[in-house]
Amino acid sequence: MNEADILIRNCTILPMNGKGITRKGFIAVTDGKISQMGNATKALSIKTKRTLDGQGKVALPGLVNCHTHVAMTLFRGIAEDIPFDEWWGKTIWPLEQKLKRSHVYNGALLGCLEMIKSGTTCFSDMYFYEDAVAEAAKKSGLRAVLAPGIVEAGNSKMGRRMLQEAIKIAQQYQGSADGRINFRLGPHTVHTCSPELLKKVRKAASKHKMGLHVHLAESKSMTEAVKNNLGLTETELLEKIDFLNPDVLAAHCIHLSKKDMQIIKRHDVKVAYNPVANMKLASGVPKIRDLLKLGVTVGIGTDGAACNNSFDMFENMKIAALLQKIFFMDPTVLPAEKVLRMATIEGAKALGVENIVGSLEVGKKADLILINFEKPHLTPMHDFHANLVYSAHGSDVDTMIVDGEILMEKRNVKTLNQSQVMRRAQKTACDLMEK
Ligand SMILES: [Zn+2]
Repeated sequence: MNEADILIRNCTILPMNGKGITRKGFIAVTDGKISQMGNATKALSIKTKRTLDGQGKVALPGLVNCHTHVAMTLFRGIAEDIPFDEWWGKTIWPLEQKLKRSHVYNGALLGCLEMIKSGTTCFSDMYFYEDAVAEAAKKSGLRAVLAPGIVEAGNSKMGRRMLQEAIKIAQQYQGSADGRINFRLGPHTVHTCSPELLKKVRKAASKHKMGLHVHLAESKSMTEAVKNNLGLTETELLEKIDFLNPDVLAAHCIHLSKKDMQIIKRHDVKVAYNPVANMKLASGVPKIRDLLKLGVTVGIGTDGAACNNSFDMFENMKIAALLQKIFFMDPTVLPAEKVLRMATIEGAKALGVENIVGSLEVGKKADLILINFEKPHLTPMHDFHANLVYSAHGSDVDTMIVDGEILMEKRNVKTLNQSQVMRRAQKTACDLMEK
């Protein structure tokens, strides 16, 4: 018998796999996966427990946020419009040293709630107490690739201890929540981790078959300091110590030389582009156009809420395109369809999960969103890609399914108690500020 757990009828499907758009299509979900999809007439014979009406809605793979520190939602709005050194050294870092596991959990839950409400089904995180982030992701129903942060900052004993703790947490949670939670190791930067520690991290990652998530060439002053101290750029150093592999996700990549870009290409390193954070902290403009020309895989990230201050990937997609266009004074750079690919299938590739998510295809996990196009700002429907990148907001996302489970339907989140999550996060943030 032709059966499905969930059947979405009469939606427009943007599969993001290079195949065309299907108008009046259907998607059937069985055992957490997309079991059938195609033209709506074929859906008539399918028996189902749940039918979702897709009339006026566009089905898109869930968005992938390639770089964040989700618990930093607690720091939203506390260090605004100040220089980077003040932002980091005088505000964020002192507060982070007071963080406890429960703080991170409450902050992460708030971030997960915000991501569900704005269309992100999978996020890539790096932070302290990543086990608490794993618990929050598990409860929310989201998919996550999590990297416990490792910071040495001149204290090699601390660096080694953080590496051991990271491995322990990663092993404990790897593949948990029915495989929705995956782990990497997260050495913070080349500036805050010595070459000796970075070599140890690489060795551990290879041994345990985990990827790496690192900040690369974000700050001009840090990039220059590394060059002055070690005589190499950050990227050259990472190549020299055999750190670079296709399993490395490098966030930012702003201050790269042409040679650095070639190194990134040569080792198939993946890049997370964080346009809003880079603009807000005035860190610089990553040359994404040039990385893409070389064939580098680039996903889009928001970075933390202390430097964005939003997880709305629609807003971040639009700015991702606009920043490259104005920087290169060329409106043809980063067209809407490419940006949408970066926020879906390319992002999944950057995290090494493209075989299971990132596009709508039979056999892939059912991680998808329905966007309500019956809105003034999304009318008329001439160009779906342009409407999604330049006109849509996270609040246009009507329904979200992850791993075959409905996390949000008609804007009602099923897995989290919205007011409770917000209340607890508010209280946690106030407690931290008072201490
Ligand atoms: Zn970051």
